[in-house]
Amino acid sequence: MKLLLTVLAASLCFWVSGQIRTPQSTEIWKPVPPVVTPGEYTAPPSDAIVLFDGSNLDLWQNKIGNEAGWIVENGCVTVKRGTGSILTKKAFADIQLHIEWRSPEKVVGKGQGRGNSGIFLMDRYEVQILDSYENETYSNGQAASIYKEHIPLVNACKKPAEWQTYDIIFTAPRFGKSDRVVIPAYITVIHNGVLVQNHVAIWGNTNFIGAHSYKPHDAKLPLSLQNHGNPVSYRNIWIREL
Ligand code: MG
Repeated sequence: MKLLLTVLAASLCFWVSGQIRTPQSTEIWKPVPPVVTPGEYTAPPSDAIVLFDGSNLDLWQNKIGNEAGWIVENGCVTVKRGTGSILTKKAFADIQLHIEWRSPEKVVGKGQGRGNSGIFLMDRYEVQILDSYENETYSNGQAASIYKEHIPLVNACKKPAEWQTYDIIFTAPRFGKSDRVVIPAYITVIHNGVLVQNHVAIWGNTNFIGAHSYKPHDAKLPLSLQNHGNPVSYRNIWIREL
């Protein structure tokens, strides 16, 4: 009897495991991802928040909450010296960001002084914007670097006055109890269609001087664009919350 039961149990196991090895057994049907209409080339997809469409800075403000003072004309916005950086009014955590930028046509200065601006994720983690077309500087400070952290895999910069794209995928850091960072921020950057940062871990707040480290902050924070005094222009800025 015991032998019969053992044989039956083994047969059942064999039958069940056989059922698992069907094509259908590894198909997952739910949830169904929502349908999104992609934009043509770099146009925003249907579920994006358009942060700047070329017409106004209504979704932006300056550091003290007043109107953003940069110059909007000819479908783009240009840094205006002396007006500070600009921030989105809305706060974000994990995002996909598309942004187009252009170094000044007239080349002025060199190194970090040439077409410097930057995209500050959560207003603290900088993806550098710099005219890095035949412009020597420290590698971890050139265009598409995570400033003073990660050197871009390649230099995909276009010439001054040509429009360039960044497509950025960013996940915010997670802080645990006692405000220690549990999961660092991660970032992927595609510059003009070329992968330049491949899911790298961010070390902490971007600093000009000294090592980077995390300081606890809100789960969502605004995106900011740096005013470094150089007339860098932007257009077609859209973001998707992940
Ligand atoms: Mg910068």
